[in-house]
Amino acid sequence: MRKTMLVLATRNSGKSREIRSFLEGFPVEILDLNDFGPIPEVVEDGATFEENAYKKAQFTARILGFPALADDSGLEVEALNGAPGAHSARYAGPGATDDANNGKLLDNLRGHGNRKARFCCILSLAVPSGPALTYEAYCEGSILDHPRGTNGFGYDPLFYHEPTGKTFGEMTLEEKSRVSHRGKALGELKREFDKVLKWLELRLAEEDAARRHECHDSKA
Ligand code: IMP
Repeated sequence: MRKTMLVLATRNSGKSREIRSFLEGFPVEILDLNDFGPIPEVVEDGATFEENAYKKAQFTARILGFPALADDSGLEVEALNGAPGAHSARYAGPGATDDANNGKLLDNLRGHGNRKARFCCILSLAVPSGPALTYEAYCEGSILDHPRGTNGFGYDPLFYHEPTGKTFGEMTLEEKSRVSHRGKALGELKREFDKVLKWLELRLAEEDAARRHECHDSKA
């Protein structure tokens, strides 16, 4: 069976490994940005996770000419009206470290009784001409006063997941993937992936037909 090409819009090989393991066994050849030469960086200046995920997927698909899958994720804290939200990576300023972001989060939550928070993940799968599919998932939890655990990244040591009694920083990657926002979004994509492949085939055939039409018109 002919394999569909899919480019992951990331240079993070950890993320690529995780996505590849979810899509193992499907007739799809998965590449990531490390398989290509330098390409311009997309500016993640959208106001929402969805805008940023679509921007990354669409930009990558258009530049490279293959379907592309991007994710955007972050933390929303109820008492902070959804902050840090789409600014999660740079909450304490451009290029901020995880420690600086966690420090700012604890400062801003000092004195707040409501510690409810959730992680959000949006996956966007786009074809070069623009259309995209979107998957969205959340993981509910709360923000502790002090970090616990050294696994993971970002806000993991502060994010307490009540049903397992652990912070994300205390979980193995497998434990985290079972309950996390990213794990759930990827699980949903996987469940629908046979349909997704059909959708891709149709969109790519339309793009081919449009190109042939343009070619024919320019020769006429
Ligand atoms: P990105 O979607 O990989 O760009 O992630 C944006 C930012 O959200 C990260 O830099 C982290 O600060 C935060 N974040 C997203 N997902 C997680 C997670 O699973 N654990 C901890 N922090 C996360």
